Amino acid sequence: MKIHEYQAKEIFSKFAIPVPRGSVAQNAEEARKIAEEIGGSRWVVKAQIHAGGRGKGGGVRIAETPEAVGKIAQEMLGMTLVTPQTGPQGRQVRAVLVEEALAVKQEFYVGAAVDRARQCPVLIASAEGGMGIEELAASRPEAIVREWIDMGIGLPAFQARNLVFGVGMDAGLVRAGTGVFNQLYKVFESLDCMLVEINPLIVTEDNQLLALDAKIDFDDNALYRHKDLLELDDPNEQEPLEREASHHRLNYIRLEGDVGIMVNGAGLAMATMDLIKQAGARPANFLDVGGGATTEMVTKGFEIILGDENVRGILINIFGGILRCDVLANGVVEAAKKVAIKVPVVVRLDGTNVEEGRQILARSDLDFIVADTMADAAAKVRAIVA
Ligand code: GDP
Ligand code: MN
Repeated sequence: MKIHEYQAKEIFSKFAIPVPRGSVAQNAEEARKIAEEIGGSRWVVKAQIHAGGRGKGGGVRIAETPEAVGKIAQEMLGMTLVTPQTGPQGRQVRAVLVEEALAVKQEFYVGAAVDRARQCPVLIASAEGGMGIEELAASRPEAIVREWIDMGIGLPAFQARNLVFGVGMDAGLVRAGTGVFNQLYKVFESLDCMLVEINPLIVTEDNQLLALDAKIDFDDNALYRHKDLLELDDPNEQEPLEREASHHRLNYIRLEGDVGIMVNGAGLAMATMDLIKQAGARPANFLDVGGGATTEMVTKGFEIILGDENVRGILINIFGGILRCDVLANGVVEAAKKVAIKVPVVVRLDGTNVEEGRQILARSDLDFIVADTMADAAAKVRAIVA
């Protein structure tokens, strides 16, 4: 579960990671008032969406008067912000963060993430803050410092110092710097995070270290331990089809291709996605309807797949086990009657009662393209979308 920058900064404050003074606003008047309350002579107005790269997309702007803060907030609120991370459809801005603008002397990247290969947390730092860490990892990996953490020990002082010295922080900032890493790791560990990122962590002209940006992604599987964090969820930021699917207990992830898939079992879904790719097409989604799929769930699955305007062909790949092929076929036929299916559907069934299942499909007056094997199914759907 991702949260907004302003929410992540509230968490940082609780953990004693310094952040600029500021507050969130839902309208221009609120934004102007916040600027007046903060005082000073320069403010920054930041669009709150669950995506980075806002600086490049016009979602981070400096204002010289409280009135200008209000005007910029007015322009940002309601706009669809497109950044390198939102995709071309962009995200609608519903809130802005107004902060004191700071004089930046230096920008660092710091973050805590899960290293899946080493099966432990990793703290990451670089003197090249501001830019995307993924690009940096690809172009200049030597510019990134990493420390892997033994969770039974936590973050020892020497590892915190390795990070601080590794990115070349000034000697005068060693205490503040190690403090930031200690607290960053505390946030990561105690709140069961997948990712905590400060990009950039800045040094101001008067040598203060502050988190200028904040990003937190919590582990959904651990959220039951943090009921208080659930209220930070912003459903507006979820992919609408994924939100709809989760309401119906369907495991659905939207992807970028044009072959919609409906499969029973996560492993079979993964194998199906691989086969589609090997056949030269691209899956539009992951969808596991589960072993106990009902007609209603199959119908809902169809609706969700068809709700994706990129889908130009559908592949239903079912291995009948506990869920028999005839039951499934009936479900698919029923679903196809209820939902207007505008694209060709390839069906591959195997397993328990496969013959009955195939007959049910053949008897229905619906236009299914029946495939015998998985490879055959992938080739047939590929021919449709090619
Ligand atoms: P992102 O582009 O979505 O990651 O948004 P950030 O919060 O990282 O802001 C983008 C960039 O705007 C930062 O890397 C800074 O260079 C700049 N920026 C943001 N706030 C301030 C500020 O208070 N003062 C100055 N000088 N630059 C700022
Ligand atoms: Mn940033």
